[in-house]
Amino acid sequence: MPVYTFKCGNCGHTFKDLVSDKERQVTCPSCKSTEVEQQASKRKVINISPTTSAPGG
Ligand SMILES: [Zn+2]
Repeated sequence: MPVYTFKCGNCGHTFKDLVSDKERQVTCPSCKSTEVEQQASKRKVINISPTTSAPGG
């Protein structure tokens, strides 16, 4: 099962939890708050930045 990292928006506690169902509500194990947000997984993120921006104007 995939493990996701969550961060509590109340106390700022970060924790990992198994998410089997998408509709499942994740609760912070520290303060029992439901205001948690899923952190980005440690995968290679493609950043599309305008590196070839010619200074014109
Ligand atoms: Zn919390």
